Amino acid sequence: MSDLVTLPMVRWSGVEGRPLVIAGPCSAESEAQVVETARRLQGARVDYLRAGIWKARTRPATFEGMGDAALPWLQRAGREYGMRTATEVATAAHVAAALRHGIDLLWIGARTTVNPFSVQEIAEALRGVTVPVLVKNPTSPDLGLWIGAMERINRAGVRALGVIHRGFSVAANHRYRNAPMWELAIEFRRLHPGIPIVTDPSHITGRRDLVPDIAQRAMDLGLDGLMIEVHPNPDQAWSDAAQQITPERLSEIIAQLKVRRADSPDADFQQSLQLLRDRIDHIDHDLIDLLARRMRVVEEIAGFKRDNNVATLQVSRWTALREDRVERAAEMGLVADYARALYEVIHRESLRRQSEIMNAEPAHEPVESKA
Ligand code: PEP
Ligand code: MN
Repeated sequence: MSDLVTLPMVRWSGVEGRPLVIAGPCSAESEAQVVETARRLQGARVDYLRAGIWKARTRPATFEGMGDAALPWLQRAGREYGMRTATEVATAAHVAAALRHGIDLLWIGARTTVNPFSVQEIAEALRGVTVPVLVKNPTSPDLGLWIGAMERINRAGVRALGVIHRGFSVAANHRYRNAPMWELAIEFRRLHPGIPIVTDPSHITGRRDLVPDIAQRAMDLGLDGLMIEVHPNPDQAWSDAAQQITPERLSEIIAQLKVRRADSPDADFQQSLQLLRDRIDHIDHDLIDLLARRMRVVEEIAGFKRDNNVATLQVSRWTALREDRVERAAEMGLVADYARALYEVIHRESLRRQSEIMNAEPAHEPVESKA
């Protein structure tokens, strides 16, 4: 059970029935750049103007942000063009400096969320302050760290709280800079349905052409907002050039977004949906019965292999089975990657169960009494 005490997003942002939008450059580079971004964002419905002031960079000797000197630029640009402002904080000193300059929303970056000491330091600096705080997911796909960071901030008394889904560093991820792993955002929502989730398609994709797709996926899931990096001259940006878009492009993307409702009260819709969900429930029950039946056969095989002292894995059988199932699934209109992933899970569990049976202590034979 969640013991978080938070405010609904509408209470601190005023936004309801449409996504909360946070946009602006990856990094504040000059006053002119921040102001031009704000000016050209006038056509888009942007709630918070973002800019990175202190940049946690992977390698030293790269641009590490303009620091405190850039705070007045953000403040002025926001004031001049009627937008609230947002920036990333990683230390207590950042929090104090941002608040001194009237920044309206703070977020904790992915590289900071991984470190409970840093998060706790930021939490202490936020005590007694009413500024909204968003916690980016940690770089690694670790839901516990993400939730833990959010809890630390909440325990310090921050009620205007949300999270940012910016994807995860994982091996074997070719399409995106950070794998979206939507299942983690969904699990987060299941555990904390009251906490708004803002998706960051810029840091997920690392590529400007993929930004609209990820933004739409977030809307399809009914997530609550978008953080998108915008630069007046994206190719010349001092950080994250490949993923930034122009303010005009952002306006187009937002205009084209299809925003989904959480649900519909329409009676026909509800009735038809219920019928379809009943069919899904039946099919799922059949699937579980079939998986259990399959497992009973696996158990027989395990006994047979044990008696003949044969290994659980015969790689030629596994290769052939996997190919056959993927091919068959494709014929049935299922995506190959889906079938492959499914069979990997089924086979992993089959091997585990076989080992368990093959190594079980033999049941004791009843000892005949010699009386
Ligand atoms: C950023 O938003 O500029 C940033 C550095 O993001 P992340 O913490 O997600 O890497
Ligand atoms: Mn960035």
